[in-house]
Amino acid sequence: MRTPGSHGTITGVTAPHIILRAPALLGDTIEPDVLVEITDDRISEIRPLTEADAGRPDADPDLASGAVAVNGILVPGFVDVHTHGGGGVAFTDLDPEAAAAAARHQHTRGTTSLLASLVTMSPADLRRGVQVLADLADDGLVDGIHLEGPWLAQARCGAHDPTLLRDPDLGEVERLLEAGRGHIRQVTLAPERDHGLDLVGWLTAAGVHAAIGHTTASFAVATQAIEAGADLATHLFNGMDPWHHREPGAVPALLRAAAEGAVTLELIADGTHLSDDTARTVIDLVGREHVVFVSDAMAAAGVGDGSYVLGGLAVIVADGVARLDPGPDATGPGSIAGGTSHVAEIVARAVAAGRSLPDAVSCGTRTPASWAGLADRGEIAVGARADLAVLDDDARVARVMRAGNWLSA
Ligand SMILES: [Zn+2]
Repeated sequence: MRTPGSHGTITGVTAPHIILRAPALLGDTIEPDVLVEITDDRISEIRPLTEADAGRPDADPDLASGAVAVNGILVPGFVDVHTHGGGGVAFTDLDPEAAAAAARHQHTRGTTSLLASLVTMSPADLRRGVQVLADLADDGLVDGIHLEGPWLAQARCGAHDPTLLRDPDLGEVERLLEAGRGHIRQVTLAPERDHGLDLVGWLTAAGVHAAIGHTTASFAVATQAIEAGADLATHLFNGMDPWHHREPGAVPALLRAAAEGAVTLELIADGTHLSDDTARTVIDLVGREHVVFVSDAMAAAGVGDGSYVLGGLAVIVADGVARLDPGPDATGPGSIAGGTSHVAEIVARAVAAGRSLPDAVSCGTRTPASWAGLADRGEIAVGARADLAVLDDDARVARVMRAGNWLSA
């Protein structure tokens, strides 16, 4: 039991109470010298220091009582609404310990909040996966579940097992939502499938975000899905038809809706899934408040090249790029099969490409937290959970605090 009160105790153990002193990203401003006070798992006070404070440390009770100087810039912990794992393990492994390890791996790399993503599976496996992740959400290791499939387009299935794709069925959807115990927050779907638009309606009525992805939807059908409540593009451009000027598909429908504020766009801006110029152009066109950086990370994130399994399919990671194993008779490379970066690395890449730190960080923190309804995340603010990343001069993660605790990598 936690005793209420600012510096309370937890069953006899002194509750964490830390004051950090560092440059900090507060809103859109990098304040050069800030005291951030953390009590238990929350940020309890924030105070930019004046020159007078800094010059007279003895006169300041906080400084005198031992603020810890942090080497780097404090930014909010990152939020990833589309990740399948990392550290050699994945949520798709259907194993509670592997799933917990995948979540902890993401935390140590700066992603302090996340939706755990599954992939297309048989009805029984999917139900099992949802049960495993619902337990993880109850334990606070993840913030919800993302079902990527199985209601996706055959022609744009990417690394999803094409033999298991299917049309939405209300019975299966209801059973999955029940198994998720309120933790399913997002479903990626192809609205052009039979009952695809019905699925958008069922999910929206249940308070679950519908995301358009792995789709061959026309402009008209994508727009109908948005009107029915879909409010996210699953990794825009990847897993959907390119924008043909005479046959506009989902891409321009989603861009247009994002510019109007009706849709948020996921970008896997890792330099492999999208060129930096594409990512830059989208953010400039629709505004950073409608763009979220996602990792789409599979098990290889944080580990490296090698052989992996994703949703039952063999994946080979070479030079940091994950692709389906094309088999011995293949004439070309296999489909890209998920990411190997973390959101923090995508943010650092955007900064290296010239975007301001506040802009790049917001696409990995405030915007996804706001879209996902995580009210106490995504900002360094009084009352927010004490989730912080310390960034070095290259905007790379040097240290991570989650819920008031420093994590070791
Ligand atoms: Zn994915």
